[in-house]
Formats: sequence, structure tokens, C-alpha cells
Amino acid sequence: MAPRTCALCESAKAMLKRPKTGQQICRDCFFYVFETEVHNTIVQSKLFQPGDRVAIGASGGKDSTVLACVMKTLNDRYNYGLDLFLLSIDEGITGYRDDSLETVKRNQQQYEMPLKILSYDELYGWTMDAIVSQVGRKNNCTFCGVFRRQALDRGAAMLHVDHIVTGHNADDIAETVLMNIMRGDIARLGRCTAICTQGEDTIRRSKPFKYAYEKEIVMYAYFKKLDYFSTECIYSPDAYRGHARVFLKELEAARPSAIIDIIHSGEAFEVREEVKATQRVQQTCIRCGYMSSNDLCKACTLLEGLERGMASAGITDRGRKQLESQGPAPDNLRTIPFFKLPLGNPTIAIESTS
Ligand SMILES: [Zn+2]
Ligand SMILES: [Zn+2]
Repeated sequence: MAPRTCALCESAKAMLKRPKTGQQICRDCFFYVFETEVHNTIVQSKLFQPGDRVAIGASGGKDSTVLACVMKTLNDRYNYGLDLFLLSIDEGITGYRDDSLETVKRNQQQYEMPLKILSYDELYGWTMDAIVSQVGRKNNCTFCGVFRRQALDRGAAMLHVDHIVTGHNADDIAETVLMNIMRGDIARLGRCTAICTQGEDTIRRSKPFKYAYEKEIVMYAYFKKLDYFSTECIYSPDAYRGHARVFLKELEAARPSAIIDIIHSGEAFEVREEVKATQRVQQTCIRCGYMSSNDLCKACTLLEGLERGMASAGITDRGRKQLESQGPAPDNLRTIPFFKLPLGNPTIAIESTS
């Protein structure tokens, strides 16, 4: 059989079968359609304004490395007028994060973007290695997830950026839709497909790869020969997400459009007002100033548990009660520096236009 020609340009030899559509296309057409779809997502969702300072949450993994490459390409090609930064969180996981951060440092050179690294150790006084040695491998993802979320916002505030973009792809979002259904978490189901989230006192956060298939991200990285780090976290992964992931991969094998169809289903759900009303009102943490649905934010609760040698205090109600029964937190307790959002600060507004 003669080699096929590309279904798009009809001149070059087809080099790959596109996972999303099954089309046989050439390498250059693949780069172009992949980038153009991300551009369309960005334009249709009106994600950016010219002059925006945007931090790319960079882990050194394939998603965020491809995101950095595509954001730079599109910013140049379509004159978005964005100031791009790389923002990495160092969780302090020996043999995993230290190696992936080396990748991010090379990306900084390759993409010529300023890089900010913020570590858990610096912010919380605890590395993940130290946390795991106290709490074991069972609940460590809870700590890591809560700490990373807040660290990203704080790192972004230090960079005075208007916006954080993350490498979450279509597979991640479809998995989250499935997980929220499987857990009956309908309030979350209503929000999890939003491309952009912004609370009043948080930095805008969005997912330009919302419709990009993981398989295509891997292909893009491979054909562009991008420099990324490809090892899974050495600590235990989120087991329940694993089930959703396996299920999604089976669906995709049977029908590739399943991923996008699940996202579209999630987008089409109308959540009743009574269900939305079950969400706790957002307030500010009395100890660290970060947004919270309780007096103390989740990170402060977890940190207090660690500091007082009762790690379960931030995870279970029983643990929390046990901690409270021991009286108030001692004065010498290590706490997180007070959080102030840079937005609306006139000195920063001037800085960002210079
Ligand atoms: Zn082509
Ligand atoms: Zn707090």
C-alpha cells in the first residue's frame, strides 16, 4: 500500500493518526491544528487581555512543558501581548521533584521566560518527605493538594501576575466529571468544567488545554522533541481518580470522542439553586488571610496538625475534635505568612505596564 498523503494539506506524507479525530496527517499539520485549537479555546473564552502577566504552572511534566511551548508560540504568532512567567512549586520530594525542577530550569532557558520556584519548606516549613515520614503514605495526597493550591496562588502573588494557567487537559477534566458523578458531588460537578475560575479574592486560574487530548499532548511533545520529565510521583497516587482514569481510557479506546462528549455533558448540566446553595460561603482565614470556607483555611488546619504532632486533625472531624480538646494552639506554632493579593494595588499596576 502506498504511503498515505496528509488529509489536511494533501501534499506531505501522513506521519500520524490523530487521536482526537482519527485523521491521517503530517507532522506540520498536526502542530498547526493542535495549536490552532488551543488558540480558538483561548479566544472564544476571552481568557486574556493584552498586557496581562500570566504565570504558567510548571511541573516539568509533559502537560505544563507543552503548555509553555504552545503559550509562547501563540503569544508570538497572534500578538497576545502577554508577559509569560514559569511558576514551579517545589514540594520537597527527593528523587522526584528535584529532578523535574532541573527540567523546568532548562525550560526557562529554552523558552526564555523568568522562573519562580516556591517551596513547601519555605512557605510551610515542611517538605513532602517530612510530611510523609509523619503521616505515612495514605493521606499524603491531601496535604500535597491543599498545600500546592495555596502555594501556586502565593507564588503568583509574588510574581504580581494577573492570571495562572495550568496544564490540565481534556482527559483530566473528563475524569473529574466522572469522579464528581461517582461521588455525588453535584455542586462541584456544576463548576468542574469551567475553563476559568476566579473567586473574589483569588487570582484568575484557567486551563487552555481544556479540550486537548492527553494523547495529542504526548504526541506534540514527542514530535517537537520537547524536554520534559516523565516519572510519576513516588508517593501513592489518588486511588479513586485511578478508577475514573482506567474507565475513561476504556471508553476512549471504544470511541475516541468519549472524552470530549463527557466534558460537553458536564458543561450542559444545570445545577439547581438549592444544590449550589449547599456551598459554604467564602471568607478569609483568620490566621493567614487566604480564602477559606471556615475560620481557619485547610492549609492552616493541616499545618497545625503537623506542628502539634496530630496530622489527622486536618483530615477527619474526629482528629479535629481531638486537637481542639487539647486547647488553643500554642503561641510558638509555626504559621503561614499572611496572604495579600497584589491585585488592585496601584504600585503594582504601574509596574506591570512598564
Ligand atoms: Zn499536512
Ligand atoms: Zn490559613
